[in-house]
Amino acid sequence: MESSGRPSTAQMVLLATSSALTAVFYAIYKKKAGTVTRLKEAKKISLNQDLKNILLEAPGKCVPYAVIEGVVRSVKETLNSQFVDNCKGVIERLTLREKKMVWNRTTHLWNDCEKIIHQRTNTVPFDLASHDDTVAASVRVVRPLEASELNLETTYENFHPTVQSLSNVIGHFISGERPQGIHETEEMLRLGASVTGVGELVLDNSLVRLQPPKPGFRYFLSRLDYDSLLRKQESSLRWWRFLTVLFGLAACATLAVMLWKQYLLQRQRRKERSLLEEFKEKQRKRLQELNLQEGEVAPSACSVCLSRERSCVFLECGHVCTCDTCYHALPQPKKCPICRASIDRVVPLYNS
Ligand SMILES: [Zn+2]
Ligand SMILES: [Zn+2]
Repeated sequence: MESSGRPSTAQMVLLATSSALTAVFYAIYKKKAGTVTRLKEAKKISLNQDLKNILLEAPGKCVPYAVIEGVVRSVKETLNSQFVDNCKGVIERLTLREKKMVWNRTTHLWNDCEKIIHQRTNTVPFDLASHDDTVAASVRVVRPLEASELNLETTYENFHPTVQSLSNVIGHFISGERPQGIHETEEMLRLGASVTGVGELVLDNSLVRLQPPKPGFRYFLSRLDYDSLLRKQESSLRWWRFLTVLFGLAACATLAVMLWKQYLLQRQRRKERSLLEEFKEKQRKRLQELNLQEGEVAPSACSVCLSRERSCVFLECGHVCTCDTCYHALPQPKKCPICRASIDRVVPLYNS
């Protein structure tokens, strides 16, 4: 807080940043809370003979938000792993990540840096079928890549280091980038994997489809079971709530500190005003004691006793207003009776 009473720039920046972050985190928290609530309210449907009957009875042969747990089964073709024998699946994702170290000119350190340089995802149509082979019911999964939480299983990974020669190394120091190598991974959704799907369930002719739900609802495909998926969402919700509360408290604390300093400043000013009035009142009484009118006091007379000559300069304010005796009689900490600035030094004044 500056002496003018205005909050400092640092306090304003802190208040603005913490309020803005609180608002952002709260918006994310609200959105996640909505997702968790809808996930809890989603209709749990078992993959069995009743599935089609449930949908036939539902309005529009559709359950807007349903949870289905089953195992992955291919419809016609399957995808083979390019690296592992007898590893079949319905989604295959190949990723090449370039790993390099980049020189940070500010911290003067080499930082690890990773960039996806190539990614390809192949899919083939697939169903979710009952864990029980004797049950024929199944659900066709539509547009699986639009689902969130689809953590595929890593089936292969390999690191190809960059060959380093002396001239390369010198070049890297000049360019500030040191390539380390390429990290290659293959991830798959394998046949027989247990998957929980949450989305819109529709009966279309004789085919039951799980598809992305209406806007506002999130489409989930996860290798976790429903309870674990819900727990995971709830724990992320707690994290956003914690951030919201933390930054909200920071904003409140900053505001409280600013208001408190403002209050202290106002109190100080009130006190000084009353001291000044007290001083003027004393001056009036002194005038009465001396039986003088205000205009009759000599301009060089001490403003406290109104009789002796002013004889000292107060620094830093520079006022010349009292005699030496009255200066010594000022209460501690000594302040200039005119402007209330604290007196750091006193210089005697010699009139000749
Ligand atoms: Zn005096
Ligand atoms: Zn002064």
